[in-house]
Amino acid sequence: MSFKTADEERLPSREEALAAYDAALSPRQERVRTALSRLASDPPQVLILEGGTAAERLSVALWHAACLNCTSEPSPCLACPSCLQIGASIFNDLYVLNGSSGSIKIEEIRDLRRILGEAPRGTGKRVVILAEAQALGVEAANALLKSLEEPRPNLCFLLLAPQRERLLPTLVSRSWVLTLAWPQAGEEAGDELRSWLDELAAFLTTGRGWLERTSVRGAVDAGPARELVAAVQRAQSAVLANRTGNALAAVLTPLSAREHLHVRDLLAQCQESFDAMVNPALVLNWLATQLYEICHAVRDRSRCR
Ligand SMILES: [Zn+2]
Repeated sequence: MSFKTADEERLPSREEALAAYDAALSPRQERVRTALSRLASDPPQVLILEGGTAAERLSVALWHAACLNCTSEPSPCLACPSCLQIGASIFNDLYVLNGSSGSIKIEEIRDLRRILGEAPRGTGKRVVILAEAQALGVEAANALLKSLEEPRPNLCFLLLAPQRERLLPTLVSRSWVLTLAWPQAGEEAGDELRSWLDELAAFLTTGRGWLERTSVRGAVDAGPARELVAAVQRAQSAVLANRTGNALAAVLTPLSAREHLHVRDLLAQCQESFDAMVNPALVLNWLATQLYEICHAVRDRSRCR
């Protein structure tokens, strides 16, 4: 766990601090920066940041924390002590819990609640960042809920997750949600999503492997399944725009315009099925089989030529 607290003797170098804001400053995230700037004068106590990559979500969260604590105009200046310390995660009133290594435990939430019961160390806004908050166990999430519900002036919680569906509905219902720009085809992908996409591309070519992977109990959650379908949509968009894409885009390239329309319908039906809470593994298997049939027909056609 990393309760980063202040080391007032030490100011990080500008380069060190600014690196943390790189992803947030990308033109891709301009829309979300504008939205956060509007919220900064009266920020909601609980804000969920979804979309983007894990690194982008953390960077945007730190940028928002700087926005809330920087006294320069326009804020954040990314040069004052507050901005630099936040960038280096050594700011007095910034607490970062990161679930990227697996889980956020109830003990960590208890420690956090104890600290929040004490007076803030500085005069700005306290910011608690729960990165990859989908790693909160049910117990930890319930303990956190208590903190979210206690109104405290000058305290902001930022919950970061790939998609809001991966958080407990009780957390989401108490929160504002902002969505970062989704990653673009090719660069998207956490390793896991990339490996699912590669597996799907291989299945569409060979007809093997996919069902073994989805049949592992608990292998597919609704959130990642939605991400996968969104990634297939992006691969298809890349093909239709004549951009080069990943292995999956290569498999979809020979499809006719009519077949692409068919694929588009299939993907839309998947999203509807997720909304209707159909088992995500079933949805993905259905999609993979339908896509396989289309790709198979394409290969037969090219063989007959
Ligand atoms: Zn500043």
